[in-house]
Parts: sequence; structure tokens; C-alpha cells
Amino acid sequence: MSKHDSKSEENKVTESAPIKAHEFDSHFKYEITEEHGGEKLKHCFQCGTCTSDCPIARFSDSYRPRTLIRMALLGLKDRVLSSETLWLCAACFTCTDRCPQDIEVASIIRILRNAAVHRGGIPLIFKELGSSILETGIAYRIPELRLKKRETTGLPQLPKSNPEDIAKLAKATGFSKLLKRNEKT
Ligand code: SF4
Ligand code: SF4
Repeated sequence: MSKHDSKSEENKVTESAPIKAHEFDSHFKYEITEEHGGEKLKHCFQCGTCTSDCPIARFSDSYRPRTLIRMALLGLKDRVLSSETLWLCAACFTCTDRCPQDIEVASIIRILRNAAVHRGGIPLIFKELGSSILETGIAYRIPELRLKKRETTGLPQLPKSNPEDIAKLAKATGFSKLLKRNEKT
């Protein structure tokens, strides 16, 4: 992804706002096609199969993978990277399986999310999940009450996590640094 990613607050746009000419970044699609899984982005002919088969789109008025792909192709970088719907994808890969053009739609969404994260755009819920993984080794902090309930119902104890190893991994991959940077935004 390009280094020219940091944008000021006033440049942030909402998905429904009218599109201005200066929003088109003709290089953006090449930033995506250079990434693993994004190579076939330009093959999209907007058939809509990804949206019609997406289980999240079925229950959402706003989530449309086809729209995200179209925005990426048009170079609406700020719009797509600041889109809240980007974070609704459940990574089930149905769209990738069904795309007649063999486009890895789910991978492109992953690439877009990664780019959004590098700009400091992790939604609060994912920041919390990330912090929880770093601190405890698990994504969801399980309340003491629920752990006790397991005991009373005869369920075995949950396996112990290993936050030290996870911390090493997070450091090696740069995840902890990214999370810290996102905490300030
Ligand atoms: S299914 Fe494939 S070709 Fe059709 S709109 Fe989605 S990404 Fe484009
Ligand atoms: S991977 Fe995401 S966009 Fe694709 S079908 Fe599943 S939820 Fe929808």
C-alpha cells in the first residue's frame, strides 16, 4: 500500500456523500492487485453474484461486497477504507467460491481492511478483541461467573492460553505496534 495514506479528519467521507472528482485515485487498484489475493480485481464485471450469495448482505441493508469491489476499482480509496461496512464481512469465502471471474473477493476485502488498519482505522470492537488476545491469549474475556457455571455443570476446565507466546508472535508480525497506533485514533 502507498505511503500517502494519512488523511486529515476533514478529508474523511461517508459512503453516501456525493462523489467528487478529486476522490478518484487511479493508482489504488494497482496497490490492490500487487497484494496476494488481489491480483484479479480488474476482472470484475459487476455481475453481483458475490452480493447475492453473501450471507451478511442477506441480513444487512448496507453491506454489499460488489459495491466494495466497485469502489476499489474506481479508486475511491478514502471512501472504501473508511467504510464501516468493510468490517461486516464474516470471511466465509462464499463470494470467492461463486465469483464467475475467479476473483478472490474475500481476500480483496482482507487487503482493504489491512490498508484501513495501517491508516489507523480499526473499529473499537476489533481493538478490544486484539487487546484481549494480547493480554489473555483469548479473544473474549470469559466472565468468572461463567467459568464457575462450567464447574457446576460438570464441564471440564477451559484449556490455558499462552499470552507470552502470543505476545512474541504479535511483536514479530508488527501486530502489537499496529494496535498501539490504532489506540491513539
Ligand atoms: S461475483 Fe465477481 S465478477 Fe461478479 S461482482 Fe462480484 S467480484 Fe465482480
Ligand atoms: S467472505 Fe465476506 S463478502 Fe464474501 S460472502 Fe462471506 S461474508 Fe460475504
